[in-house]
Amino acid sequence: MDLSGAALVTGGGSGIGRACAVSFARLGVRGLVVADIDLDAAKATVVECQSVALNQNLRLEAIGIDVSLEDSVNGVVRQVADTLGRIDYCVHAAGVGVKVASPVAEADTMEFDRMLKVNVTGTFLVTRAISAVMKSQEPTALKPGSPERGTTRGSIVIIGSASAFVATPGMIQYTTAKHAALGITKNAALDNAPHRIRVNSVCPSWVDTPMVRKAMEDVPGLAGMIKAAVPIGRIALVDEVADAVMFFCSSMSSYSTGCNMILDGGTTLSAGR
Ligand code: ADP
Repeated sequence: MDLSGAALVTGGGSGIGRACAVSFARLGVRGLVVADIDLDAAKATVVECQSVALNQNLRLEAIGIDVSLEDSVNGVVRQVADTLGRIDYCVHAAGVGVKVASPVAEADTMEFDRMLKVNVTGTFLVTRAISAVMKSQEPTALKPGSPERGTTRGSIVIIGSASAFVATPGMIQYTTAKHAALGITKNAALDNAPHRIRVNSVCPSWVDTPMVRKAMEDVPGLAGMIKAAVPIGRIALVDEVADAVMFFCSSMSSYSTGCNMILDGGTTLSAGR
């Protein structure tokens, strides 16, 4: 896979974001910034990336960011663009999950607002700031040796969720936020297409992250319920999500924009499983 440019990963301190950062390092990017509200976690990811980096001259940094705050996002994106010279790939994986599931009649206003602020406003702010940087960059060949594919100014991948397509009991705030993130992907893809910036999203359901693992330990019956709900019979590995993200960053997906790849082992294929 030809990923020799420079990448920014938000939410790179944990789970899917961390797996994406490690994949970028393995695949040979020349620059990589791992951004997270948890700076220590971002630094730990950087150490892991260092140990697997294909490119011995990889420029690698960790940085603190709060994606829900405009000044933080604009400041960090500007700083990353200055440090790396340009941003070819941006993976937006920062986000929050539901703390306590509750049916709509009992849903909490503050929890709803927090979810929209981080998962929707955050996605908008990052997509906007990155789009502006990419728009100002010189285009590069999309695929060396394949001039008919044209040029690119960059690729943005938003980590969505199967919750962008279906509802889950007790998760109205998450379902709402992920449906909105889908809208951001589509509109940004349309607005950015003339500038040769692609925007896509990867929408997983159950993924083997520390949060899901803990929930499966804590909630009786959840592990069995998940296994029964997923036709493939297991939850996704973070590396499997990262593989799909790398596809959207690379020239292998040169004609994909505004795509929302449902990556759920078949979970949403049928009603009533
Ligand atoms: P996932 O399963 O989607 O990977 P995680 O909880 O493992 O979920 O990872 C989400 C990452 O996003 C965490 O590292 C977390 O610190 C980060 N994060 C959460 N809120 C913010 C925020 N406001 N700004 C930046 N990063 C955030």
